[in-house]
Amino acid sequence: MEHRYRGRLAPSPTGLLHTGHARTFWTAYQRCLAAHGTLVLRNEDLDPQRSKAEFANAMLEDLRWLGIEWQEGPDVGGPYAPYEQSRRREHYLRAWRQLLDRGFIYPCTCSRKDLASAAQAPHDVDDEPIYPGTCRERKSSATSPTGVNWRFRVPDGEAIEFEDLRLGKRSHVAGRDFGDFVVWRRDDVPAYQIAVVIDDAEMQITEVVRGEDLLRSTARQILLQNALGLATPAYYHCALVTDAEGQRLAKRHDALSLRTLRERGFSPQEIVSEWGEHVSRY
Ligand code: GLU
Repeated sequence: MEHRYRGRLAPSPTGLLHTGHARTFWTAYQRCLAAHGTLVLRNEDLDPQRSKAEFANAMLEDLRWLGIEWQEGPDVGGPYAPYEQSRRREHYLRAWRQLLDRGFIYPCTCSRKDLASAAQAPHDVDDEPIYPGTCRERKSSATSPTGVNWRFRVPDGEAIEFEDLRLGKRSHVAGRDFGDFVVWRRDDVPAYQIAVVIDDAEMQITEVVRGEDLLRSTARQILLQNALGLATPAYYHCALVTDAEGQRLAKRHDALSLRTLRERGFSPQEIVSEWGEHVSRY
């Protein structure tokens, strides 16, 4: 049977979208159009502390203003609803149980800063530090994840390889490029890695398009897919938009939010046709 292309846009409603996000989403949209595929919009409002409904509304509106169209999403529905991560907890919980039963995860009581960031995608600059392994041999017969961090025990020294559709063959060594990562936070919030793997699999995503600062997360996600017996989608990691100083765009670049550019009179066509390696012209 023909494998129909299914792509996704996965914005987090933790701020306004800037031109860096927009370029990645535009690429995802173009690749999906070229493949005559279906595009899914998933609201990655996993972290209750950082996600805001007003940003969720703004991102849908801004993406639509830019001209991007999706066929499934929180605003239009679809066969894999709900499309908001905050409403998909039971899906992640099932995966947590499977990982525990199969011996892939362990409870970790270390107090670490990465607890606060695990629900967010670890973009290169703020990637999770390599865990020293203190709680690694802990066994558990827990029936719920609440109260401790849960970490995935990575196969130290093993190279996780995949073919990136833009960058070619990539290889990341477990234990060196990334360590035992959090799959469930002590404050009972599932981590980005588990949520994204479950959602991409359940929503039948065939190609993931995202920024190249998530390459190491892709290696982690392949480990999770293998542990859970899930298929690995194709990956296309986009180049990042940087500012005039070569820094990756971040929330502090609010001046480059789509909102601001729109208010300043830029049209979607101007934004789409003008992105290059940096956006200093705005
Ligand atoms: N919501 C994630 C982010 O903010 C998406 C990462 C992904 O595409 O997997 O970057």
